[in-house]
Amino acid sequence: MLLIECPWCGPRAESEFSCGGEADIARPLDTEKLTDREWGDYLFMRTNSRGVHREQWMHTQGCRRWFKVQRDTVSYEIQGYETFDRPLAVMDSNEGTTK
Ligand SMILES: [Zn+2]
Repeated sequence: MLLIECPWCGPRAESEFSCGGEADIARPLDTEKLTDREWGDYLFMRTNSRGVHREQWMHTQGCRRWFKVQRDTVSYEIQGYETFDRPLAVMDSNEGTTK
């Protein structure tokens, strides 16, 4: 189980959070001009990358705020956290994970 550090509440068990998927996906500005394929790509297609990945998490059992996590999808190591008004805070190498 991951130990996720909510930027407002501190470290909590993964079970208190909901993952919102890949971060940094911008909504297209001119949606009327998009083809069905382009709209479908925006809605459904994700990179599903192996390695360092940025994703959104919500502390659903706590403060109910959204934040971003930079995580390695191979080792599950959380490398840092970011709020929507504060840039990425990088963590020490093994902090934030449990084995
Ligand atoms: Zn919280």
